[in-house]
Amino acid sequence: MKTIVMKFGGTSVATGESIRRIAKIVADSIEKEYRVVVVVSALAGITNQLAEEANQAKKKGEKQIQEFTRKLIAEHVATSRKAIENKNTQKQVEQVIKKTVNALEKVLIGICYVGEITPKSKDYVMSFGERLSAPIVWGALQDLKLRTQCFTGKEAGIVTDENFGEAAPLMNVTAHQVKGRLKPLLERNVVPVVTGYIAATQDGVVTTLGRGGSDYTATILSVALAADEVWIWTDVDGIMTTDPKIVPSAKMLPQLSYGEAVEMAIFGAKAMHPSALEPVIEARIPVRIRNVFNPKNHGTLIEDGEEAKSKEVVKAVAMIKDVAMINIRGAAMVGAPGSYSKVFDVLGKNKINIMMVSTAVSEANISLIIRRNLLGRTLSTLEIALLGRGLVNEISSEDDVCVIAAMGANMKGTFGVASRIFTAMAQKKINIRMIAQGSSELNISFVIKEKDGIAAVQAIHKEFKLDQI
Ligand code: ASP
Ligand code: MG
Repeated sequence: MKTIVMKFGGTSVATGESIRRIAKIVADSIEKEYRVVVVVSALAGITNQLAEEANQAKKKGEKQIQEFTRKLIAEHVATSRKAIENKNTQKQVEQVIKKTVNALEKVLIGICYVGEITPKSKDYVMSFGERLSAPIVWGALQDLKLRTQCFTGKEAGIVTDENFGEAAPLMNVTAHQVKGRLKPLLERNVVPVVTGYIAATQDGVVTTLGRGGSDYTATILSVALAADEVWIWTDVDGIMTTDPKIVPSAKMLPQLSYGEAVEMAIFGAKAMHPSALEPVIEARIPVRIRNVFNPKNHGTLIEDGEEAKSKEVVKAVAMIKDVAMINIRGAAMVGAPGSYSKVFDVLGKNKINIMMVSTAVSEANISLIIRRNLLGRTLSTLEIALLGRGLVNEISSEDDVCVIAAMGANMKGTFGVASRIFTAMAQKKINIRMIAQGSSELNISFVIKEKDGIAAVQAIHKEFKLDQI
């Protein structure tokens, strides 16, 4: 009997109707004789609301906080009434919702009195979205006469380090505990429903695995239970060759290697966070991206060593908008050890994330790509730290650019790929401002004016015949 860990994202549990849809998907899988573990995200938008409330609580009064918690109860109760038919189950779930939100209200009021929020208390607040959605899903499964039991990540046995906001699992103790707690249930055909995204430290303090962390919960559980597959249920058929809004003939990719999926995640396709893939890469557990609105479709399968089986060199192309390019020029950087590190150190200390870097062997220039909304802050940070100190002569920027990334594991060791990409750009008279190819050779990224972005994606999609994949 196969064991499948199924994760349902925020849009899959957005409404009562969608919760009934996923309950049906679980029931159908049980009928096909799968053992199923369900991992759920918070209802769509709730984690963002909690983050906002956590940040504002210190400035708010008790009344405003109660207004928020009242709305939170109302929304979840309304959803649960649509998701669950059986009146008794409904009542039970409503009680859990009220009790859970009461606990949240106490913390928020505490934050408001103390006038301070710590990473620890923020994680605790952020954990409530999943603590509220999981019981509703549990109720919908009860409705379909499935045997089921609800767990928080902590109750399921997931233990992490103390890096609040982005905690990492301690896999040995986690595997041991999860196996002990969930396996006996699976053997008795009980469906465990586990809150995604949240876990706890060894001392039982609640942690979160980082935004979008429900996928991570699913892959952690799959490794602990030696599951056969992880299914990430979402609202698209799978990972596409490109954004169908740019190229209407874009195709779904039936298969990807782990390495390719990591690349795709990095350049913003609707895929998984790279860290969520880490546990399954080591354990070689396949991951499938599937569509709750189209369960007949088998989705995109991400598995070990897939690149050997397919012949395409470029499999996908993406445009990353809302970025800006910064050029740092300084003759004194040439041959001066540590000069690059000064630039990166300043940005790192100011929590500015660098998305792409390119430097020429002349060493007199560094080009960086960052998120566009950070441009002002980045420029002032760099100017204060670097200008007039004998290292950097000039800092300039462009805010009307985009990154184009072409990806595919078979690019590795294949010659002529870059030439085909850049010839396609030349034919469209598109000027290239910056280029980067990591030595992993899994992707080629380059920067052009944003106004040329759509034409560039279309040209590459056509050059590599991605609509025939
Ligand atoms: N609810 C969390 C978030 O929105 C985790 C998740 O959805 O995967 O980040
Ligand atoms: Mg979410």
